[in-house]
Amino acid sequence: MIEDEERAAVMAALDDPILAHGPRGRQFEADFAAWTEAPEALTVSSCTAGLHLAWFTCGIGPGDEVIVPAQTHTATVHAVVYTGATPVFVDAERHTGNIDIDALAAAITPKTRGIAVVHYLGMPVDMVRIMDIAKANDLFVLEDAALAIGTRLDGVHAGLFGDAGVFSFYPVKHMTTAEGGMVVSRDSDLADRLRLRKAFGVDRAMHERKVPGIYDVVTLGYNFRMNELQAAIGIEQVKKLDRFLAQRRANFEVLDSGLRDVSELTLFDRPEGRFVSGHYCFNVMLDTADADKRTDVIQTLNARGIGTSVHYPGPVPQTTYYRDQFGHTPEDHPVANWISNCSIALPVGPHLDESHMETIVAAVKDVTSEVLS
Ligand SMILES: *Cc1c(COP(=O)(O)O)cnc(C)c1O
Repeated sequence: MIEDEERAAVMAALDDPILAHGPRGRQFEADFAAWTEAPEALTVSSCTAGLHLAWFTCGIGPGDEVIVPAQTHTATVHAVVYTGATPVFVDAERHTGNIDIDALAAAITPKTRGIAVVHYLGMPVDMVRIMDIAKANDLFVLEDAALAIGTRLDGVHAGLFGDAGVFSFYPVKHMTTAEGGMVVSRDSDLADRLRLRKAFGVDRAMHERKVPGIYDVVTLGYNFRMNELQAAIGIEQVKKLDRFLAQRRANFEVLDSGLRDVSELTLFDRPEGRFVSGHYCFNVMLDTADADKRTDVIQTLNARGIGTSVHYPGPVPQTTYYRDQFGHTPEDHPVANWISNCSIALPVGPHLDESHMETIVAAVKDVTSEVLS
C-alpha cells in the first residue's frame, strides 16, 4: 500500500543531507511509540536483526537454552542460534496456532534462559501466563511481534509484555518500510543497551557528538540501523495504521462468518474478549492430510485470481537445516505439523474490501467441496 504520501516523503528525504541515523528515524520511533503506547522504541534494519540484537544484548550464548515455538518463521529460531544458544522447540495449540503454554512450562530445564513467543497471525499469546512462568524461572521474554501490529491483550499492545518485542516492516506485513523493523520495550535501561549495540557499540550517535568524528567504542555491536528513506516511508505508514487495521478487521469478519460452518474446514477460535487480533491473515485448515489435494485447492483458487499463502510451509524443526541439527520427527510437534500441512492462508489486507471477501468465501466453498468430496 505505497501511495503518493510515501513517494513524496522518500523524495524529500533524498533532498536532505542526512541519509542514515537522522531526524526521520527518530521521528518514526516517536510516532510508532505513540501509536503502540511503548515507553521505548528503536528502529532496526529488520525484525530478524532486532530479534538477534535482543538475544545478543541479554547475553545468552553456548550452553544456554531458549524455548521457541515450532510453528513460526525461521527467523524466530535463527535469532537464538546466532548467539550459540540452543533452541528448544515447543508445539502449537490447536485452537490458535500459538505456542502451547503447558508444553512450554514442561520444557523448562536448569539451562533455560529465555522464551521466544510469536503472536501467530496476529492472535495474541496469553502473555499474562507467559510472564508468570518467566518470573518464576527468571527468564528473558522476547516477543516476535512481526505479525502483531494491532494485536492487544487486556488493552496492552503486543510487544509490551515481555522484556522486548520486535516488529517487522517487510513488504507483506501490516505496514512497510521496504525492509525494516522496530524494537519496543518498557525497560529504558535495556533500550539504551540495545541502542548501543545496534550501532557498533559506539557511545555517541552522530547528533550527540560535540566534536565531529570523536567517539569511543564501549562494547561489541552490530550495524542494524534503518536508513532515512525507510524511516520516511514508515512515518507515512503509521498515519494509515488505523485505516489499514479497520479494513483488515472488516475483511476478516466476512471470512470468519462465511466459512465458519463449512464442513471440510477447521478454523481457529474467533478472537474475542481480552484477545484482540491484528488480523494478519485468515487461516483455514483443510480436513485432509493429502498434500496433493491442498495443492489442488491452492492452485484452483489462484487460477480464479485469489492469492493465498502458507504460514509456515513447515514447522521450523522439520526444515532441512534444523532437522539435520536436532533430528526431530513430525510426531514431536503434531499440531505445528498439522497447521503446516493442512492450512491455507487467505488475504485480509487493506488493498481488499468486503466485496472481495464475499468473492473469496464463495470460491473457497466451491473449490473445497469440489476437491475434497
Ligand atoms: C516476517 C517474519 C519475521 C522476519 O521479519 P523480517 O523483517 O523480514 O526480518 C520474523 N518473525 C515472524 C513471525 C515473521 O512472520
